[in-house]
Amino acid sequence: MAPKKKIAMMTSGGDAQGMNGVIRACVRTAIHMGCDAFCVYEGYEGLVQGGDLIRKMEWHDVRGWLSEGGTLIGTARCMAFYERAGRLQAAKNMILHGIDALIICGGDGSLTGADKFRAEWPSLLEELVSTKQFTREQIEPHKHLNIVGLVGSIDNDLSGTDATIGCYSALTRICEMVDYIEATASSHSRAFVIEVMGRHCGWLALMAGVATGADFIFIPEKPREDNWREEMCGIVQKHRTLGKRKTIVIVAEGAHDREGQKITPEMVRELLADKSGLAIDSRITTLGHVQRGGVAVAYDRMLATLQGVEAVKAVLEATPETETCFIAVTENKIVRKPLMKAVEDTKAVAAAIEAHDFDKAMSLRDAEFSDQYNSYMLTTTVQLNKNMLLPEKDRMRIGFINVGAPAGGMNAAIRAGVAYCLSRGHEPMAIHNGFAGFARHHGDKPLGAVRAFNWLEVDGWASKGGSEIGTNRELPSESGMEHIANLIEQYRFDGLFIVGGFEAYHAISQLRKARDEYPSLCIPIALLPATISNNVPGTEYSIGSDTCLNELTSYCDKIKQSASATRRRVFVIETQGGRSGYVATLAGLGVGASAVYTPEEGISLDMLAADVRHLKEVFAHDKGQSRAGRLILINEKASKVYNAKLVADIIREEAHDRFESRDSIPGHVQQGGVPSAMDRCRAVRLAIKCIEHLETFGKGAHNRVKKDPTSTAVIGIKGASVVFTPMKTLEEEDTDWPNRRPISAYWTGMKQVVDVLGGRPKYDLPEQNI
Ligand code: ATP
Repeated sequence: MAPKKKIAMMTSGGDAQGMNGVIRACVRTAIHMGCDAFCVYEGYEGLVQGGDLIRKMEWHDVRGWLSEGGTLIGTARCMAFYERAGRLQAAKNMILHGIDALIICGGDGSLTGADKFRAEWPSLLEELVSTKQFTREQIEPHKHLNIVGLVGSIDNDLSGTDATIGCYSALTRICEMVDYIEATASSHSRAFVIEVMGRHCGWLALMAGVATGADFIFIPEKPREDNWREEMCGIVQKHRTLGKRKTIVIVAEGAHDREGQKITPEMVRELLADKSGLAIDSRITTLGHVQRGGVAVAYDRMLATLQGVEAVKAVLEATPETETCFIAVTENKIVRKPLMKAVEDTKAVAAAIEAHDFDKAMSLRDAEFSDQYNSYMLTTTVQLNKNMLLPEKDRMRIGFINVGAPAGGMNAAIRAGVAYCLSRGHEPMAIHNGFAGFARHHGDKPLGAVRAFNWLEVDGWASKGGSEIGTNRELPSESGMEHIANLIEQYRFDGLFIVGGFEAYHAISQLRKARDEYPSLCIPIALLPATISNNVPGTEYSIGSDTCLNELTSYCDKIKQSASATRRRVFVIETQGGRSGYVATLAGLGVGASAVYTPEEGISLDMLAADVRHLKEVFAHDKGQSRAGRLILINEKASKVYNAKLVADIIREEAHDRFESRDSIPGHVQQGGVPSAMDRCRAVRLAIKCIEHLETFGKGAHNRVKKDPTSTAVIGIKGASVVFTPMKTLEEEDTDWPNRRPISAYWTGMKQVVDVLGGRPKYDLPEQNI
């Protein structure tokens, strides 16, 4: 039998939320795949010093790590590793421990060091032999070193991946702080200049600007024009004239002007406070290390876990010829990419900034970055940029409507859509309270269901939860299709922008099918999926689902703590999600559930029996500190018979007092209060794309609308792309109408990951990456 492969993992560089999730996933996946797992403590310092800083890890050593902030195995900046002598020592320690594969989670510096180490490995071994530290026989089994990188960094500064592990947690911290500051800014009518991290990368500042609707931002990749002082004061002045009582300016640490001169928060504050100018009472808040603090948000836990699993697979599959890779994410897809190309591209951004070639710097960032930059500019300089205006004849009257239950990000989507419309000269119209509200509006008896948007009112919606224009589940057929068609004609709508969940999907299916009968329905219609259940065909992500997952994750963290603190206890938590197990599964991934029950899989007595047996085993083996509570997540519709209470009762009965069991139902808390940063940012980006899509049809294009299937389309993130899919295609190919969900559930592989990492018996990892 081949000797067990020994894989070591470490965290290096600046810490980031989610690093513990990486280590948990790597340790458990390695053990699951029959390898020995080692952790190198204190980054490269541990590798150079060796000894007790390199430790073998067991399955239970990483229990509960998903819910811990920072990195529990430590990180450090190690000067010795920059030198060959340090790396020689590191190679020696690796061989002493029999380690021949390394997974490193860190920033571009750490990954550069890793690649150098791998490239030098043969010559380091030669030197260890020539200096008689090892014999040739001793090094023979370690001739090849496999290395895989994972990007853990709050800045999101590595090219080639849309998100680094930790960046969404840091963004969340920033948005929380800005939301807090806004309340006091508004009370005193003050301006706040907020400095955020990002020396060479403005991702945090940019996304915070998008998510909070900040008045002005400064990022290193795209310095403002030389007249930035006048530009900023002009925008702030305009917002104040419109009636805004607060001003928020976000400055990235590395902000500078086009000449490379640093722009400091103090410079900005002085400008805003200048008595001869705006004379606004202005303050500075430097967020600092708060941004690295706290536990990881749901997205980072998912990314950490899935990428950790992928890293172990990659390291095991690597051959001496394989180029060193790192694990990236493109939109919604986990992929392997060449490491050094990404590091070179990242360095090229810094070099381009240094050389004042800002167009190049922007082009080297990923597509989402420039999309979001455009989104930001469109939503803050509303009606200021006259170049954006369309000729009179192309301006459309667009109805905005929310359908279904509220979901985080709905308001941000409406706000962004309105901003874009106003910039283009369109007429955005609010339709209040879904189709039910629309239908109650009788032509000569207006009930206020339809009205033009007012920018000042909408501008404050970036961070608001719920649905400001109101939402309703009623379908057009229930309101009366003829009536709806007449209203659309009466209001002269040239397009509809619908934000909502499965009901919204159903609604536009009905509108599409009724077009032959009612020509007024021959207008372009775009749906932006928004539902916590994430069950709309045509997308792998609906806005609101991330907010829900964050709520569920923090709820479960608290419950788990209570379960551990009291006595051995299993909590069975019922999640929402309709007939889709997405929310339960992803929450399970984020909290390390022992089992997840989904409607797709159902629940059987055998399954329950196996899970009870498994729980008995784990509690029997729990010792000391590792005596932690366990969670089981059950979707509200996983079974007609076995609900959370019954499952908890069965477990308690079978546990024979060896452990406890309780059920818990978070209910509507899952809809979330303040929408998550990710939901807000994605809402803005996707909403603008939806209005752009409607624009491609223009007004009065009835014939084209009839012929072109994309005239009724759903915007979605699918794998590595953002796409519009025609409703007709989705209805025919990917809609499970009775179960109100897509036929294809892209996340089933994630369910397998939850099962394997939760130690659930008889499960294996998905063959393909996710
Ligand atoms: P962050 O994004 O937080 O800055 P980072 O990984 O880029 O993370 P660095 O301080 O650049 O952080 O690198 C961490 C460690 O990686 C260094 O202390 C050093 O030990 C090692 N390292 C970095 N660059 C190299 C290099 N070129 N050669 C060898 N080792 C390196």
